[in-house]
Amino acid sequence: MSFDYDLFVIGAGSGGSATAKQVASYGKRVATSEQETIGGTCLNRGCIPKKFIVYAADFALQNQVASNYGWDKMWVELLIGRALSN
Ligand SMILES: Cc1cc2nc3c(=O)[nH]c(=O)nc-3n(C[C@H](O)[C@H](O)[C@H](O)COP(=O)(O)OP(=O)(O)OC[C@H]3O[C@@H](n4cnc5c(N)ncnc54)[C@H](O)[C@@H]3O)c2cc1C
Repeated sequence: MSFDYDLFVIGAGSGGSATAKQVASYGKRVATSEQETIGGTCLNRGCIPKKFIVYAADFALQNQVASNYGWDKMWVELLIGRALSN
């Protein structure tokens, strides 16, 4: 029996993408399917967006303690729309 691909990966998140890339690097024929967005949870909803939001929130804390280190007001307002679109 012959197949079009040596490996068919369902889901192009971190795991699926890494698997597909590694197996393809051995010269195997690989196909991937993704039902939502390439990159999966980590890239689109998890690690990366979370880190960005945590860093943005941390600036507010830094702003509160900055005066203890001699800084005057550094930031007054978080433009959340701008932060998220970045
Ligand atoms: C809020 C949050 C923060 C996180 N922060 C971190 C972090 O800082 N560091 C860290 O190491 N990990 C973090 N993680 C965990 C990390 O996101 C996961 O470990 C990682 O995404 C798992 O990768 P995966 O490929 O197994 O699954 P996923 O990334 O979820 O990929 C699975 C993919 O399969 C697709 N799929 C599912 N069913 C089908 C189907 N039938 N047909 C086609 N496609 C399908 C989905 O749409 C999805 O894109 C975080 C997770 C969350 C939720």
